[in-house]
Amino acid sequence: MDYRAIIFDLDGTLIDHVAAAGRAARTWSRELGFTGDQTDRWFEIERRWFDAYERGLVSHPEQRRGRTREFTGDDTLTDAECDEIFGRFLTLYREAWTAFPDAEPALRRALATGARVGVLTNSVAEVQSAKLRRTGLDLPGVRLLASGDLGVAKPRPECYRKALSILGVAPHEALMVGDSHVNDVAGPRSAGMTAVWLNREGLPAVAGESGIRSLDEFLRT
Ligand SMILES: [Mg+2]
Repeated sequence: MDYRAIIFDLDGTLIDHVAAAGRAARTWSRELGFTGDQTDRWFEIERRWFDAYERGLVSHPEQRRGRTREFTGDDTLTDAECDEIFGRFLTLYREAWTAFPDAEPALRRALATGARVGVLTNSVAEVQSAKLRRTGLDLPGVRLLASGDLGVAKPRPECYRKALSILGVAPHEALMVGDSHVNDVAGPRSAGMTAVWLNREGLPAVAGESGIRSLDEFLRT
């Protein structure tokens, strides 16, 4: 089957977000005066606030501030103070960005099919486009579609609809791949797209589907 659009998720799919965020959180928490490994606590806080963002309950800046107040244990921090403290985490996170080795070859195979190639990500364009540049994944023809610009996040159906309309294709002409079964597989399928689950960690099958373990398996058949 030939697709007119091939859409990749970014974090966990093309970029090793967990490794980068973990490394940043370790340094940041030490700088904030915490002892011991705070990464599990940070990831738990991130997951909860990011879920709230994805469900449309808080804005993207609000989830950052919520995470900062909760992580520091100081809910008297002003928005400006939160932005400054979180800004330091972002600097450390940026320095740790790394592409998965299978990412660039997969993007190149997608481009070689002649399809429009997009990266649909639940974050703000400023951070995500810098991430593509820094890791060398900003290949000509790869279009960034950030939820911060779309005004709606995965897995809400309008998010896929808006992304597809920017790419100028119908749902049945589009293929999506990503590491989140909810955001990158179930959501796109509900919107009428084809989707492949990238299961890098070998997580248990979802509804009998175990996915592919690497992007090296993507666009090979
Ligand atoms: Mg992801």
